Amino acid sequence: MIGGSLGGLMAALALRGVGCEVDVYERVPQRLVGNGAGLRIVPEMARLLEQRAGIDLSEVSTFVTRYRHLGAGNRIVSEKLTPGQFTSWGSLHRALTLGFDPARYHLGASCEAVTQRADGIDAHFADGRTARADLVVFADGILSTGRRLFAPEAELSYAGYVGWRGFVPQAALLDETWELFADSVTYGVSPYSHISVYPIPDPSTDRRDARAVNFVWYRNVAESAEFDALMTDRAGVMRPISLSAGAVRPQFIAAVKAEARRLMPPAVAEVIGKTDEPFLQALYDLALPRMAYGRACLIGDAAFVSRPHAGAATTKAAVNAWHLADCLRETQGDVDAALKAWEPTQVELGRSFVERNRRMGQASLVENRFNPTDPDHMPGLRGPGQ
Ligand SMILES: Cc1cc2nc3c(=O)[nH]c(=O)nc-3n(C[C@H](O)[C@H](O)[C@H](O)COP(=O)(O)OP(=O)(O)OC[C@H]3O[C@@H](n4cnc5c(N)ncnc54)[C@H](O)[C@@H]3O)c2cc1C
Repeated sequence: MIGGSLGGLMAALALRGVGCEVDVYERVPQRLVGNGAGLRIVPEMARLLEQRAGIDLSEVSTFVTRYRHLGAGNRIVSEKLTPGQFTSWGSLHRALTLGFDPARYHLGASCEAVTQRADGIDAHFADGRTARADLVVFADGILSTGRRLFAPEAELSYAGYVGWRGFVPQAALLDETWELFADSVTYGVSPYSHISVYPIPDPSTDRRDARAVNFVWYRNVAESAEFDALMTDRAGVMRPISLSAGAVRPQFIAAVKAEARRLMPPAVAEVIGKTDEPFLQALYDLALPRMAYGRACLIGDAAFVSRPHAGAATTKAAVNAWHLADCLRETQGDVDAALKAWEPTQVELGRSFVERNRRMGQASLVENRFNPTDPDHMPGLRGPGQ
């Protein structure tokens, strides 16, 4: 397994569950901690993780009962009763890590190349190591090495907007602000833009019952000098994919907080205002026509990069992983036959997911017709609410 983030760990658990011996190789040398990003758990992911990996998600989840459109003066414009489950990237990564053998999780291992053999495949790492395997799964994310090796012509396509993200612990918020966000996914809408706000386990503490409010604010930024300046970090390095907490330059943080006060309901502006170090993700689309290449395959963001509106990219990675495990079990470990059975359904899933997210983003950021309680805008992997 190349990549030890959510996709890689889920695939490791899935394949181990059908009797494979799995090693995970993660490029980053230290334990991954994340930025404190919130994550939606759609029912399909909950089912896979709980039933197939034995992970108790209730321990790392928050639950809400409704969707809410918040308007000027914190007026509730509309509301829809729909349950939702959320976690934080860090809580989920920790839960997945606990289920996997630490001796087989190798940090500081950057895969650079593979050699296909008649009966298997070798993965070569930057430190000179080689690992021999029957199958190499690349779960190495948006800048995938696997994709560069097998589909070098594939290019990320910038969506034209970025997501400002961050979280504020419950204790830092006014009581009435917490009450407003505690039981809902709350949307604020401004011209050609929207924000979603929801409660998550507090990423800044290990206390299980601690809560925080997380947000993603989608804002148009044309591919221009403005984009380059925004995505340049405090050390002066332009990072076109994301800027982590602590890397966004202070003038842009001050500007987004001022814009929140001008455009968003006061409770939402309070959350953004109280976020010390918001972080940024530029949004891209990418769809590959294939996911299997000899004895290697690509899953998760390595194969399909989507905008995050449907809240199910992690679920897509989970489905990629467990379907691969099912195919390996059904073919009794015949890797070639398993990949042949696995690939078409997963390519179709990825393609339709990227397209649905693109349409959801266009409705808000380009056509300015985002309605938070419109059924078409409901999250889900295979369609609204599914
Ligand atoms: C703004 C935003 C909001 C999102 N919100 C949600 C949400 O609400 N719900 C949801 O389900 N998803 C959401 N996502 C998407 C989600 O974060 C990912 O789709 C999901 O975590 C799957 O990621 P991955 O494991 O495929 O890749 P990544 O998380 O990118 O992990 C790739 C890993 O591979 C490692 N790596 C890279 N190259 C190499 C190499 N050569 N050798 C070894 N290791 C390597 C990296 O260090 C990294 O740890 C959101 C994304 C964005 C941008």
